[in-house]
Amino acid sequence: MGLLWPDLLLFISLFILFACVIAFNRLTLTHKLYLAFHFLMMLWPLGQLAANITDYPHYQNFFIQLSFVAVGLIGPGWLCFVLFLTQRSSMLKPARLAAMLAPALVCIAGVIWNPNHLFFEMLAGDQPMRKYGPLFWVLSIVQYAYLFFTLIQMFHELKNDTSVHRRKQLATTLIGMFVLSGFSMLDLLVNVLLKDYLPVVPGLMSLGILLSDICFILAIYRFGMFDILSMAQQDIFEHMTMGIVVVDDNGKVLEANRGSGSFANVTKGDHFEMEKFLASLHSQEGVGEFLYRYRHYPQERLQTELTLHDQRHVSIQISPVLDHTKAVLGRIITFHDVTELRKLVDEMNRKNEALHERNLELITIQDELYRVNQKLEQMAITDSLTGCYNRRFLMQQLEHEVLLNLRYRIPFSIFLFDIDFFKHVNDRYGHLAGDEVIRRTAEIVKSQLRRTDILARYGGEEFTVYLPHTNREQAEHLAERIMAAVFDNRIDSEQEQIGITISMGIVTEDNFDQQVDDVKEYLRGLFSSVDAALYKAKDEGRNRAVIAQVN
Ligand code: GH3
Ligand code: MG
Ligand code: MG
Repeated sequence: MGLLWPDLLLFISLFILFACVIAFNRLTLTHKLYLAFHFLMMLWPLGQLAANITDYPHYQNFFIQLSFVAVGLIGPGWLCFVLFLTQRSSMLKPARLAAMLAPALVCIAGVIWNPNHLFFEMLAGDQPMRKYGPLFWVLSIVQYAYLFFTLIQMFHELKNDTSVHRRKQLATTLIGMFVLSGFSMLDLLVNVLLKDYLPVVPGLMSLGILLSDICFILAIYRFGMFDILSMAQQDIFEHMTMGIVVVDDNGKVLEANRGSGSFANVTKGDHFEMEKFLASLHSQEGVGEFLYRYRHYPQERLQTELTLHDQRHVSIQISPVLDHTKAVLGRIITFHDVTELRKLVDEMNRKNEALHERNLELITIQDELYRVNQKLEQMAITDSLTGCYNRRFLMQQLEHEVLLNLRYRIPFSIFLFDIDFFKHVNDRYGHLAGDEVIRRTAEIVKSQLRRTDILARYGGEEFTVYLPHTNREQAEHLAERIMAAVFDNRIDSEQEQIGITISMGIVTEDNFDQQVDDVKEYLRGLFSSVDAALYKAKDEGRNRAVIAQVN
């Protein structure tokens, strides 16, 4: 027996390791509590066994003390276990836990200290005999007081809890507690009070511990106390920010999580009245309809969004809980704070509107640009004084047109005319009147032309006309008409009416057998001929048209 200490040290080391594994691994608090409790209960038979097999009084003393330390902790262990079982572990705040443990700790101190053998005394003899003092009875009474207090908690819970499942679980635990109490009383009676009259029955308390533990294990495993999934679900339900209230078909609250507190101040057992909840929000859009459907269509899923008085936006959803016959058993009401979401949506809408406006502005700017561009294009090809085409545009057009005409053997003509004695007009009536003469002459000429003819200002008071599909005869005829119209026209000036004449060179292309390689060169030739004809008209006395001699 001298080698007991090394073994004991090893046992304690192993126990510390065991405790560390439990403490630092991912076990739920309920698991840890149960394992500690189970270990505690194992200490009683261990202590009793060790005390009985050692001959050393000191060791006997130590092991008996160990057994009773374990017994002293069974009472608070029960209480904790039941609080966890009834999901009221949140009651175990540090101050309450200390108050709850205090009587047991005082008793344990008494067991360890054992002043003047007031707890127990080892009697010499063949068999290790013990004599118990008043502190032993104090420990026993305290344990029964814990039992009593735990029973009150359980009855209270049994009375409130409507779940059959939970009631069965509590009932099994209760049986376990009664079994242990019964065996401990029997042990007290047979092995302590009547020890002089009855033979010692060993292991009574140990048997009680075993049987009660079996009941606890049943309560745990048969009823899924360690079902991590359901515990996790419960935990999520309890801690999610979304408020959830579950009501039965009469509106009685069966469950309300913490998150619901900031929306509807109801607890289990209260009556949730949607009418009352929405009473002050009735003016909001859709509330009346929502309430009507809530009252009359309990089997429907409903959803609405409201603004509360504190400006929070809340989305309320009602989901019915139906049985297999589709009868409504109750409803789940969820409250979801969507203030941030609403703010984001509003912000997005505002930005969208701004974007839309900006888009409209851009479209207007685009239209404006299009118009300006059109105008610029127009300006690039027209002469600002007369409004007819400019020389550059005419030449561009001709480069294209003449090739087509030559290829398809279509005759065309070109006029080049110049106002006679225009310097004289300028000198006599002034430049502004001169401008007006140029403008009006262009107008008169244009009025004699077809839509397909192109009139362009060639420079100064010289103009040119391109006449597609026009042979020599037609050209001559038109030239006469134009000159007559100009001749007949009178232009108002400050002093008097001005009458002018023009001289004209005419060229008609009807030679389609020529080979044209360079259209620009060809046009230069054409214009030099018509220019010569114009000079000739001037030379011959003006106010006349001369047909150019081509090649
Ligand atoms: P001719 O019968 O030989 O043509 O005699 P003319 O006096 O008309 O001589 P010419 O054609 O050479 O004269 C051109 C004049 O036209 C010179 C210039 O001062 C004037 N002129 C050219 N462009 C403009 C213009 O835009 N406005 C005004 N008012 N005068 C212009
Ligand atoms: Mg001239
Ligand atoms: Mg002239």
